[in-house]
Amino acid sequence: MDKPFDFRAWSHRASDWAADYLEGVGDQPVRPQVVPGSISAQIATAPPEAGQPMEEIFADFEQIIPQGMTHWQHPRFFAYFQSNAAPAAQLAEQLATAFASQCMLWQTSPAATELEIVMVDWLRQALGLPETFKGSLQDTASSVTLCAVLTMRERALNFTGNKEGLSGKPPLRIYASGRTHSSIDKALWVAGLGQDNLVKIPTAPGPLYEMDTDALRAAIAEDRAAGRVPAGIVICVGGTSIGATDNVKEVCAIAKEEGLYTHLDAAWAGSAMICEEYRHLWEGAEEADSIVINPHKWLGVPMECSLHLVREPELLVRTLAIQPEYLKTHGKDGIVNFSEWSVQLGRRFRALKVWFLMRCYGLEGLRQRIRNHVTWAEQLAERLAQEPDFEIVTDPILSLFSFRHVDASKPDLDAHNIALVNAINDDGRIYLTQTTHEGQIAIRFVAGQFDMAESDLEIAFEAITEVARGL
Ligand SMILES: *Cc1c(COP(=O)(O)O)cnc(C)c1O
Repeated sequence: MDKPFDFRAWSHRASDWAADYLEGVGDQPVRPQVVPGSISAQIATAPPEAGQPMEEIFADFEQIIPQGMTHWQHPRFFAYFQSNAAPAAQLAEQLATAFASQCMLWQTSPAATELEIVMVDWLRQALGLPETFKGSLQDTASSVTLCAVLTMRERALNFTGNKEGLSGKPPLRIYASGRTHSSIDKALWVAGLGQDNLVKIPTAPGPLYEMDTDALRAAIAEDRAAGRVPAGIVICVGGTSIGATDNVKEVCAIAKEEGLYTHLDAAWAGSAMICEEYRHLWEGAEEADSIVINPHKWLGVPMECSLHLVREPELLVRTLAIQPEYLKTHGKDGIVNFSEWSVQLGRRFRALKVWFLMRCYGLEGLRQRIRNHVTWAEQLAERLAQEPDFEIVTDPILSLFSFRHVDASKPDLDAHNIALVNAINDDGRIYLTQTTHEGQIAIRFVAGQFDMAESDLEIAFEAITEVARGL
């Protein structure tokens, strides 16, 4: 038999634990200092037959798990892109878990669907996009991009692909800059279009590394001449490696001339568009057919929350709606069933955390954080540029830049900079990751943790320069 436990008391205990954790997380090394297998070695190899007391479970949790976590809520997490969980939004996530609702249809939780409609619209307004955009909250940008690529496919095939499959049909072509995220490649794999039909267009040599639109036009013309069918263009704003940003307006104009569907991937950078002064980076976004932004990255909403905005929901719903009798809602007109807007049927109640976040911090509070991150990252880049043994590889695009330590005594600078990333992460004060740029290793720096302070950038400067000079 399982042991009874006091849910109320343990919920309080878990809340206290979370509050203590967030207060103290900045004193921990950002990346755990563990070797592979060391955590699993501490977990029972088989599940228990009899229930165990919560005291034991919780004690094991405290002892085993935190020391093996990479601390994404650490104020000096400067790697990848941040995955923020603003405390007010964490509260909403706890409440949503209490409902454990499956929000696939309006009738499976009317409040969840209706709050989602309104929250999508709040986000749209915050981003300065026209009210013609409607949308939903999905799990990840990868899923959203898959939906967009499927829409491109079905639209180009006059909606025959789902029924007839792709065999015997001409190759469908999708265009994107060579600097777009790997989730675009994967979307083509999953959609059955094939990697070879993702046409990667060369990019300009900075400062924004946008796709070469002459090359785009030429690629489309060449495909048409060869009997292939252009279907869509994926536009990148704030690419993952170095922040590459296409000329949205120009690409959308080409798409319009050519009759192609456009999907704009602003998974990271999109959150910054709540600040008017950064919107020049995606000027023309209102012309895109589909946009993805991850509020679970920079904005402060806990994983998972990916905003999918579309200008014509009918195209998406025609691509993805499937209604066996057991999913029909009879006698209710004008309702939205969000499972018809995505690949998955089942969906969490995601709108609640967006509501809590936007109300608790206000748009001004959210904008101020993003502005600080951008300003502080620019300042750090300037300081590193002034050091004789450092060079900036790519200038800041919003709060992301990349750099290298150019120690003349080191024969292999790539190996030296990889060693530097490892040494910095072992040091524990900050956490960074690397990328390759123009065939060279560069170290990425991105500011964006929800509660970071200017002093965290000071510590970053010290950690980077000290560790580099000690190697
Ligand atoms: C993070 C990121 C993605 C992937 O996001 P997921 O939500 O993890 O699928 C896609 N594109 C860009 C530009 C990103 O930064």
